[in-house]
Amino acid sequence: MTQDKDKMAKREDFLAFMNRSVSNFMAVDTIVSRLRDAGFQELRETDPWAVKPGSRCYVVKNGTAVVAFVAGSDPAAGFRIVAAHSDSPGFRVKPHPEMRCGALGDSQLVKLNTEVYGGAIYHTWFDRPLGLSGRVVLRSEDPVFAPRHCTVRIDEPRLVIPHLAIHFKRDVNSSLSLSAQKDMLPVLGYVDGCLQGTVARIVASHLGVSPDDILDFDLTLFDIQPAEMVGADSSWVNCGRLDDLSMAYCALDAVIAAVPGRQTQVMAVFDNEETGSGTKQGAHSPMLRNVLRRVVSSLGGHGEEFMRAVAGSFFISADCAHAAHPNYMEKMDPVNHPVLGGGPVIKVNANCKYMTDADSAAAFKWLCREAGVPCQEFVNHSDSPGGSTLGNILTGQLDMRGVDMGIGLWAMHSVRETVSFDDVLYTMQVFTQFFNRQ
Ligand SMILES: [Zn+2]
Repeated sequence: MTQDKDKMAKREDFLAFMNRSVSNFMAVDTIVSRLRDAGFQELRETDPWAVKPGSRCYVVKNGTAVVAFVAGSDPAAGFRIVAAHSDSPGFRVKPHPEMRCGALGDSQLVKLNTEVYGGAIYHTWFDRPLGLSGRVVLRSEDPVFAPRHCTVRIDEPRLVIPHLAIHFKRDVNSSLSLSAQKDMLPVLGYVDGCLQGTVARIVASHLGVSPDDILDFDLTLFDIQPAEMVGADSSWVNCGRLDDLSMAYCALDAVIAAVPGRQTQVMAVFDNEETGSGTKQGAHSPMLRNVLRRVVSSLGGHGEEFMRAVAGSFFISADCAHAAHPNYMEKMDPVNHPVLGGGPVIKVNANCKYMTDADSAAAFKWLCREAGVPCQEFVNHSDSPGGSTLGNILTGQLDMRGVDMGIGLWAMHSVRETVSFDDVLYTMQVFTQFFNRQ
């Protein structure tokens, strides 16, 4: 009974985390508030650092990436790292987004101009209540070197991307080709007064500031509908952004539970994985390497200790995997097709799109065995190229041992995806075992 209650409490906590994290900015905001509640202290990149063995700290980069760590006692002993990403595919609001709906003459019906972010599945965004979330840059004394930022989540007014009626496209169910610029623009509604600046005025009123105080914004659309449990026994979670916030959640849980040891335990949540990780807050940047170097030097180590630490480290790149889809079994490898609820999935690729090799796969399987959880493997169908993720990109900055893994998921990059909550629990157990094993 207690176990059931514990599982229910964890499930509610996971749903609350997902419902709050409606954009990359809000995800990092949520992670940071949980780190603070757990006693982690913020380190600013511009300040000198004084890290001691056992220090619990975090560093935020540009509002959408965060590295948290529990410092080890030996600067040369290495790092135990779990990494995930904060971003998900969707639609980003363009500058001067307000567009009059042309065919409606001089009507004040307004739609918003947006641009696609990452590999979104467009049609899943139709006919849903949508909100706006992201970051706003506010007027400050010195916006060049001392900018003022805040995160924002706007549930009202709700936007909608209405689908064309079937009567105007009789073959809609057999052929659907969509233009991001024509078909996918969300309608805001009727607007009184000046068209220009409507979004800034909505944001300003939400924040309680003057529209003139808003210098710029990064805003994306999100699905307002909260996360739901689905399936005959309600064991699956259905919501947006599970790729990859489910893995960020597990990494966060493990670093909060980390017990200080000789090695430093690290959670890294990067941004922009969905567009190739090529930003200063992405996995291709020196962000994580710089944090690790500074931890080593703050603990009294030098270049030699850092190199020894890298050589003695292990890295888990945690990003969701494809679970076997019951309607498309022919898309999967005939043997290695993970299922929902079957445990964390090791991702393997002959062309090195994943960093997994026999050495690191064996290490991860051993961790699962120690944690008492099942483990699965994913390999692409040999006629399909598949995707890539954080691990192999990060090895350009840190040449350490590591494995690519994730939990199985249906409908990757849809506005709503589905995972098994059992897999979330299993992964939390493995990450905790990884950080805390002697
Ligand atoms: Zn991902």
